[in-house]
Amino acid sequence: MSVAIYPGSFDPVTLGHLNIIKRAARCFDKLIVCVMVNSNKTGMFTPPERVELLRRSVKRFPNVEVDFSSGLLAAYAKERGANVVVKGLRAVSDYEQEVQMAVINRKLNPELETMFLASSEKYTYLSSTIVKEMARYGACLGEFVPREIIADVERRMRELERKDG
Ligand code: ADP
Repeated sequence: MSVAIYPGSFDPVTLGHLNIIKRAARCFDKLIVCVMVNSNKTGMFTPPERVELLRRSVKRFPNVEVDFSSGLLAAYAKERGANVVVKGLRAVSDYEQEVQMAVINRKLNPELETMFLASSEKYTYLSSTIVKEMARYGACLGEFVPREIIADVERRMRELERKDG
């Protein structure tokens, strides 16, 4: 069985992520979307909340599973029997860091290959950071995040703004 992992912070999941998930799910028997915790970043949503939003957004893909890991990707992949990491590439600016990560991951786990999917041109500009900016200014989020989670993003932005004063 071919198993691939699509790692990221997904804070929150965007239509750009979902496009990569949909296309990668066609290439493998099973795709594990894994929320990786990056301790340097405090997020809009907690990791368990991100997992829940992702699960809701990928319900229609039967071979997609959503998980969470605070460990090393190379070790997590071994544990889950996955030998491919899927990454989305938006622009040249993504390239340098992603190739560096791919080389390190293969050093740590020689069986692990990284495969890059070019972002659909519709989503090259889209990132979770852009979504947060748009939500802050009250823009319509329908073009940016899965419809299943729009209300959650809007609600969380209002809560954060109230907290900040
Ligand atoms: P973000 O940069 O949006 O915070 P993540 O850290 O969650 O994203 O990214 C997880 C993966 O998804 C990375 O491989 C990233 O390059 C990819 N990705 C993010 N947004 C898009 C997009 N709009 N199109 C294609 N790939 C994307």
